[in-house]
Amino acid sequence: MANWLYDALFAPLAGRHAAFLYLPDGAAVSGAKFHDMIAELGAALRAAGVAKGDRVAVQAGKSPQALAIYAACVSIGAVYLPLNPAYTPAEVDYFVGNAVPRLFFCDPSARGTLAPIAARHGARLETLAADGTASLPLIGGVGFTPTPCTGADLAAILYTSGTTGRSKGAMLSHDNLLSNAQVLADLWRFTAGDVLLHALPIFHTHGLFVATNTVLAAGASMIFLPSFDVPQVLAALPQSTVMMGVPTFYTRLLDSPALTRDLAAHMRLFVSGSAPLLAETHAAFKERTGHAILERYGMTETNMNTTNPYDGARRAGTVGMPLPGVELQIMDGAAVLPQSAIGMITVRGPNVFGGYWQMPEKTAEELSADGWFSTGDLGMIDDLGYVQIVGRAKDLIISGGFNVYPKEVELLLDAAQGVLESAVIGLPHPDFGEAVFAVLTAHKGADLDVGAVLASLGGQIAKFKQPKGAVVVSDLPRNAMGKVQKAELRKAYGDWFSKSS
Ligand code: AMP
Repeated sequence: MANWLYDALFAPLAGRHAAFLYLPDGAAVSGAKFHDMIAELGAALRAAGVAKGDRVAVQAGKSPQALAIYAACVSIGAVYLPLNPAYTPAEVDYFVGNAVPRLFFCDPSARGTLAPIAARHGARLETLAADGTASLPLIGGVGFTPTPCTGADLAAILYTSGTTGRSKGAMLSHDNLLSNAQVLADLWRFTAGDVLLHALPIFHTHGLFVATNTVLAAGASMIFLPSFDVPQVLAALPQSTVMMGVPTFYTRLLDSPALTRDLAAHMRLFVSGSAPLLAETHAAFKERTGHAILERYGMTETNMNTTNPYDGARRAGTVGMPLPGVELQIMDGAAVLPQSAIGMITVRGPNVFGGYWQMPEKTAEELSADGWFSTGDLGMIDDLGYVQIVGRAKDLIISGGFNVYPKEVELLLDAAQGVLESAVIGLPHPDFGEAVFAVLTAHKGADLDVGAVLASLGGQIAKFKQPKGAVVVSDLPRNAMGKVQKAELRKAYGDWFSKSS
């Protein structure tokens, strides 16, 4: 009997003597070896009582074994639930209480702290060390057969990063994952000869699904690095053909003079996503390496939705066109907006998740009965058919009754003399309800004159869109995926206008 995702992605590894993973110590894990690891872990999970539909939570460092647990869950129809190692015990308590996993792998150093949490929620606790050593008794994988699963069966629950309110568990099916991997492997021209430089975490959709599943769908291999370390990444570039990264990977690589056209000569593709890539970074990278970074757009709930073209113009500041099979509309309430109008980006397709785990009301708010998902991102389709994102709906500023899209102001600020990057937020204001506020970072060595920067916007945009206050900081606060944490900024500067009025 068939297992939808396992048969397509993992079964082909059997008998593949060539490497699937290249590790930083110079060792390699062949396809066949990884396939054996999946069988061994699949059998061990079953023996530990994990059945089809049961959740298996993993809060551990990045290792081939952690990746093999994902594959083993797929093979037995269990639901993989990765957790960011940075989550505190209180946060883990929420996730474990919400998802009620049958089994929970944690780092050995956290066992003592997490044992009472696991016990309270009825989860069996096992450890998985950064070197891949697991406490789960292994019984060998000879004769292991996968559990039958259809495309509609759940493969994973990924919790959203939850910048406001509680994280929600996005339920992703075998077909959500497979359909997206196959489309991306095809559009981005992956072949078995590709070597992907993998420096992303594997608790998030970007590193776990976009990177890994696409490689697997193409029968390609990966250089599997534990984290993003500039010297390690630069050393691996000449052996790689593709890299997927968040925008901060690219800005940090550009900071190193060792990044040159020669070093990137073996590469065929650089992909960026999870947060907006500055046009300036796109241009600087092209200038330095000759490569136009390909920017794409997706999210935990939907996998990937749009991409810039492989052939054709990769336009900075846009996220390209919907993937084949993905429908995308710009909406204002129930109305579909015309080209160039800004509204809620709404998507439908085989990539879109089935709902939030045990949150039917939240699901109903964002996912319509006929499959349209309201992404929470505001954007438009421009005159060339490319999608442009202007920001999260919850970051929209309403000042004196007028809408201000932060991105429009940020683009102008970013272009101002001496400004490296900006984040524009709305803060409570006694007259306007909300007023526009800018948080700026400066180019190396630049002495930013805030007054001059703000004055430079005069005549470029309407007065109500111009920031009424600004500060210069050394770095913008970002999460693990490089996203600017605007909620933190709103908290930090919340009383700015009440103080100054
Ligand atoms: P996550 O669920 O953590 O993957 O976050 C998804 C969100 O990241 C999206 O809803 C967007 O707000 C943002 N995002 C992802 N890719 C891009 C991109 N290329 N440009 C701008 N924002 C992006």
